[in-house]
Amino acid sequence: MISIDCHAHTAYSHGKDSVGDMVAAAAEKGLAVFGLSEHSLRPPGYGYASDYQERLAANFPSYIAEVLEERRKYQGRMTVLLGLELDYIPAEEAFARKACAAAAYDYVIGGLHFQEHWGFDGSAAEWANLSTQTCREHFVRYYHDLEKMACSGLFQIAAHPDLIKLFRPDDFQAWLDEPDALALIRRSLAAIKEQGMALEVSSAALRKGLGEPYPAPPIMALAAELGLPISFASDAHAAGDVAWGFGELAAYAHRFGYTESVWFQQKSMISRPFS
Ligand SMILES: [Zn+2]
Ligand SMILES: [Zn+2]
Repeated sequence: MISIDCHAHTAYSHGKDSVGDMVAAAAEKGLAVFGLSEHSLRPPGYGYASDYQERLAANFPSYIAEVLEERRKYQGRMTVLLGLELDYIPAEEAFARKACAAAAYDYVIGGLHFQEHWGFDGSAAEWANLSTQTCREHFVRYYHDLEKMACSGLFQIAAHPDLIKLFRPDDFQAWLDEPDALALIRRSLAAIKEQGMALEVSSAALRKGLGEPYPAPPIMALAAELGLPISFASDAHAAGDVAWGFGELAAYAHRFGYTESVWFQQKSMISRPFS
């Protein structure tokens, strides 16, 4: 059993439920540690067709206050962590640096969702007509950015390490079979390890029907070979998603020899076995 979920969103962004409802769901599932990791604000010019940034900007202090209130409420029963999922955009590192320092986060998850000004995980239609070659260029860029993200030193956890496959999973799988792809990915994972970060293993991909968690088996095998710590995530956007698919995630991580996952409290890594 996995008793830690480090990745969850609320109605302050595009989640459905309040901080209180998400934490109550975590307690009901018997989690020992639950981390809220609401999305960050982004610099101007980076957005999706349908976005929540304005609402989030107006309410961000309430997000923090509510998480801290829930932490007090559950003290002694469940550890509630204050986290953040920050969009890492290489050209906007100064913005990210400021956002990470704006509150006493237990941890910041670095997430790649943008290439230049394109939020690449927003719409299947935007990927539908891309050539295989163009898709590959996006895959390659993703892992260059992942390496830069790690080297920025801003983050504790690398989110959904192959989100870029979301709308072209078959092309991604074919790309992964090539030695150059694995060499590139290995470099980014080595940077994550070097920075004392953890690699996220997420059930969100299962929920989205991809048939495997993030990241794919060849990436998990590389992570295990490098001795890279992992942290478990549901990336819940509703109370019902908290710890979703964790039985399957535990079995998946075991396949690669993992017996412990980590979380971060006040930026310090703590390990705990799972079964
Ligand atoms: Zn994300
Ligand atoms: Zn997320």
